Amino acid sequence: MDQEIYLDSNATTTVLPAAITAAAEVMGTRFGNPSSSHATGLQAKALLDQTRQRARRLLGVGPGRLIFTSGATEGIQTAVLSALCALRERREQGQAIGSLLVYGATEHKAVPESLAHWNRLLGLNLTLHKLPVGEDGRHDLAALRAVCASGAAALVCTMAANNETGTISDLAGIEAVLAETSSQAYWMVDCVQALGKLELDLAATRIDYAPFSGHKLYAPKGIGMLYVRPGAPFTPLIVGGGQEGAQRSGTENMAGVAALNAVLTALEQGGTFRTHAELVGFRARLADSLRAVLPGVVFNHDFAKSLPTTLNFSVPGLSSKELMDVFDAAQVRVSSGSACSAAKAAPSYVLDAMHLPLWRSAGAIRMSFGALVDEATIAAACERIERCGAALRASCLLPSDQASVPQDGVVQLGVDGACSWMVMDAGSRSCVVIDPLAELLPRIEAYVRCQNYQVRAILGTGVDGGAARDELAGALGRHFHARAGVDALGWPSAGVDLGRWQLSRLPQDAAADAPRSYLLSDGGAPRMAFCSSAQQPDLATLGDDTLLCPTHDADNHFCTSAHAKAQAEFTAADASLQLNADELDNFLRAYPDARLIDVREPYEFAATQTGIATPGGRAAHSVPLSQLSGRASEWLRGERVPLVFFCRSGNRSLKAAQLLRRLGYHQSYNLSGGLALAPLAMAA
Ligand code: PLP
Repeated sequence: MDQEIYLDSNATTTVLPAAITAAAEVMGTRFGNPSSSHATGLQAKALLDQTRQRARRLLGVGPGRLIFTSGATEGIQTAVLSALCALRERREQGQAIGSLLVYGATEHKAVPESLAHWNRLLGLNLTLHKLPVGEDGRHDLAALRAVCASGAAALVCTMAANNETGTISDLAGIEAVLAETSSQAYWMVDCVQALGKLELDLAATRIDYAPFSGHKLYAPKGIGMLYVRPGAPFTPLIVGGGQEGAQRSGTENMAGVAALNAVLTALEQGGTFRTHAELVGFRARLADSLRAVLPGVVFNHDFAKSLPTTLNFSVPGLSSKELMDVFDAAQVRVSSGSACSAAKAAPSYVLDAMHLPLWRSAGAIRMSFGALVDEATIAAACERIERCGAALRASCLLPSDQASVPQDGVVQLGVDGACSWMVMDAGSRSCVVIDPLAELLPRIEAYVRCQNYQVRAILGTGVDGGAARDELAGALGRHFHARAGVDALGWPSAGVDLGRWQLSRLPQDAAADAPRSYLLSDGGAPRMAFCSSAQQPDLATLGDDTLLCPTHDADNHFCTSAHAKAQAEFTAADASLQLNADELDNFLRAYPDARLIDVREPYEFAATQTGIATPGGRAAHSVPLSQLSGRASEWLRGERVPLVFFCRSGNRSLKAAQLLRRLGYHQSYNLSGGLALAPLAMAA
């Protein structure tokens, strides 16, 4: 089985072995409370002091304060609260303060959210002002100069390095603008991604507040630090027992402190972490591998101005979800945009702020490694990248000369709430395309060419879409022969010859350009009806189990049926369809005829080295979600055995199980948590 290759270090890192040992020791034997005056407490206090001294030296804190926190989000809150309390006081004393809370457009969400929160709670009513960045992701210094010169900036929040792109800010340039405009603004610099990667000499700057987080540099989650410049205002966020000199109450997280101490020791002594030059070399190798296998890949940041440990890229024609899924199948952990928004495939606000085109900001993938990475991991990652490229080529998602194994059956290609359908007959290598959406044309064309199919008809179900059909016909070249006697929606008067499938029009006598459906059967009653909307009146004449496959599918239901529409009792939240990983073995014992269905797409399958290790050790059938509707129509007609759907995380398989239940196939289940949580075993 493949080892996991973790390339998501900007989200969090592993914990340094020496840090684990140190934390375990503190939890196991040296467990004292640093506020206790007995020997056990004094030992804890000594560790706390030693860690602080080490951090002060490393960060060049000088006479400033260094407070331990739970992480950067707390540090950011404390800094924002401190600055805003001071601004409120100054205003109450009749002093002029600026009106703007300025923050970089690419800041971590913790910054604008904290600004908005405390601005509201403190009743300050200042205005949040987003400072633009240039195409290189660096702050627009002219825009900063404008808000500082007018005296409008009350607080300026910038970051040392960006978490999505690794772009290193021009802190010296920002400082120069603050100085030359004699700005009175307080200045916070989020140093989370800089720790251990950039030289910091905080006391030599005019930075007022600098939050840090341990878990981005091989310490555990839950420990962080906040630097405060001497003379910068300070208001504690948490009060109580007076720990940390009453600046941050609450008994200290000593396991976290001990672990952080081990990391800081490694940094100070050298020899543990890779040098800058080595990291630059590793990034170049990963970038070369990506360029070699992903045609047209573009990097979304300037390597010369970025941390050497981050690569952010987009690939024309591939969504970030497809890339994430294929890398995950190859056991390479990467992230789409920032980890916080990985669940939604929303465009990245960081890349949007850099004015990158939508396809790049919505399709971006971040690969990030830490300074502990070794040669073997980079070499293995390069091999896996090659494997992912091969999997994408074999599945026709990347251009390929090799004709891959042809798909057979009904394929649904979707973009938010709308989809196109293809009916494919592998035997005759012929297919039809129904309602090609403009956004999907390159994908459909690549799919047809790569599998060497002949398109027998390009059909429309409604009055719209003519331009996309014409465009596809033009693009397909020798793969499509325009026939004479084709009506306004692409239907040839001689009918469509599609191997084992029969396709007919409904209603037969519809006006040439009125909405219509296409019925698909393979010898018997119609199995599926392709329509512009599942509400079309002519569909009422179809059987209960004929699947209605609409182009417009706002709820992403895939397809429906008269049965599903009549059924009131199904609720999508029905918990009885969820199977936990630890229930699976019992379930499979109780239902020996149950079938495991893997709904991941073919490229994920192809990228998985261990295709035969499955949940529960039971052989799994591959039914990609894009082919689910076609297979559902077969299952509804066949013998009913329990179907257990699974995928990577349990999200797509939940949709599959819900679809089957809606259609009246009640023995359908979802393996919740998917492959990520299920213990895998080799299929018997
Ligand atoms: N700032 C940046 C740039 C980050 O990358 C993160 C972590 O994602 C944070 C702040 C928040 O840090 P923490 O998880 O320690 O609260």
